[in-house]
Amino acid sequence: MLKTPEEFEASLRELHPTVYIKGHKVQSVVDEPLLRPGVNAISVTYEYAFLPEYSEIMTAVSHVTGKRVNRLLHINTSQNDLLKKLEMTRLLCRETGCAQRYLCHDALNALYENTNNTDLKYGTDYHVKFLNYLERVQDDDLTMCVAMTDAKGDRTKRPHEQHNPDLYLRMVARDENGITVRGIKAIVTGAPYTHEILVLPTRNMTFQDKDYAISFAIPIDAPGIELVSRQAGRPGDTGAPLTSQYGQATAQILFDDVFIPWDRVFLAGEWDFAGSLTESFATHHRVSCIGARAGLGDILIGATAAMAEANGLDPQKNGHIREKIADLIKFVESFYACGVTSAIFGKETTAGNFKPEPVYANIGKLLQGTHIYDMFRIVHDTAGGILVSSPYPEDLEIPNIGEKLSQYLQGSEDISADYRISIARLLEDITASYQGGWYSAISISGGGSPEATRIEIMRKYDIEERKSLVERITGV
Ligand SMILES: Cc1cc2nc3c(=O)[nH]c(=O)nc-3n(C[C@H](O)[C@H](O)[C@H](O)COP(=O)(O)OP(=O)(O)OC[C@H]3O[C@@H](n4cnc5c(N)ncnc54)[C@H](O)[C@@H]3O)c2cc1C
Repeated sequence: MLKTPEEFEASLRELHPTVYIKGHKVQSVVDEPLLRPGVNAISVTYEYAFLPEYSEIMTAVSHVTGKRVNRLLHINTSQNDLLKKLEMTRLLCRETGCAQRYLCHDALNALYENTNNTDLKYGTDYHVKFLNYLERVQDDDLTMCVAMTDAKGDRTKRPHEQHNPDLYLRMVARDENGITVRGIKAIVTGAPYTHEILVLPTRNMTFQDKDYAISFAIPIDAPGIELVSRQAGRPGDTGAPLTSQYGQATAQILFDDVFIPWDRVFLAGEWDFAGSLTESFATHHRVSCIGARAGLGDILIGATAAMAEANGLDPQKNGHIREKIADLIKFVESFYACGVTSAIFGKETTAGNFKPEPVYANIGKLLQGTHIYDMFRIVHDTAGGILVSSPYPEDLEIPNIGEKLSQYLQGSEDISADYRISIARLLEDITASYQGGWYSAISISGGGSPEATRIEIMRKYDIEERKSLVERITGV
């Protein structure tokens, strides 16, 4: 059943994860001010599922249970599902900056495909176990964090070649009841305020890496799990109109010989399926990154145009402002268009769910990850220095001074200084504060580095077909 935001928070209270932030142990995730913007952001994914105007986009009928579920937990049964998921991600992220929970969708769809394929080769029963898990996740409307990225040590070496055997999460024991794992997952979004951890491998593996080829689900407060987290957004900062409300924490998750029962294990040693699970997750996830950053782009476009107007410049009439804002729109809508194309050209997998077309998914992610810097350049250039120098809300309340500031800092005579200052603050918040740097870093690295997307484009693009075209033309 769909949970309300209140029920989501109540369900988090039933869990007792071990979480540290800035060296102190968090007593209650829901009551921790440093995590509040993160809880708020996930709550929006619960809230919107109840809004009639978003029902089609936010929910779907599960082909597993026949019940209406949050689309973030849905297995795609068509290209239309892929498209709706992209639209939903943009919708959620234009409200929250980053709604994080789309990771669940991406991992569930990757596991749906990969457990099926592993069973076909090895005669294992991962798929049926996964379906049981999926049913519970959908029924209880859970949120999982997705732990894929390992510490990775020396990037040129495979897991088994590292100087420390625990630099990739690994299976240290297995018996008739389950497996025991040790190590760390190094960057995990939203982990403290989720119900479960979904663990995936982070790369392709060889036979010698088989102990690292693992995937499983485990409650966030299972024995042996410790999280070292960071604050979500800029909680308590009155100069942060968006990120004091909504933010995203990341965490390191430490696994100290954690036992995973077999009914929660989805890969354990089948090394030749580690790469396909990674690839499947990355393909879904890169489309989510596109939708998320398009949502951020919506805020940037609106605020940049508003800032120009507050400065007295008409974006339709003033040539170089028009060019800048048109370029901003071009960057956002061109990577979003790749997401749309990846959905429309999506294909059914051997397991029966639908996956985005990978070349467009990767091109969109590559454009998004690299053009974020062009987008921020346009914002900074258009806004001018007030972007990082506007007074705080409290300053505008200082007797005599606040009024003077409001007079002097007005731009266009038709637009109040308060409006101009609040737009400047919003743009500072998302492009020039700690969070501004954070948004550029997540854009370039989150979902994989630009080089990782280029490698995928080169792997999946049919260059041979293009070469044969040239052979036909030249006749050689
Ligand atoms: C805010 C944020 C949130 C995130 N959330 C999650 C999450 O929820 N779950 C999750 O699993 N991960 C998450 N990530 C991790 C993200 O997926 C990784 O950052 C990304 O895959 C890149 O990996 P890396 O950080 O280890 O960088 P690296 O892979 O080390 O890349 C750094 C540079 O080294 C290069 N490089 C890497 N390997 C090689 C090589 N063998 N040869 C040559 N060059 C190489 C890369 O191309 C790149 O230029 C998140 C990241 C961020 C920033």
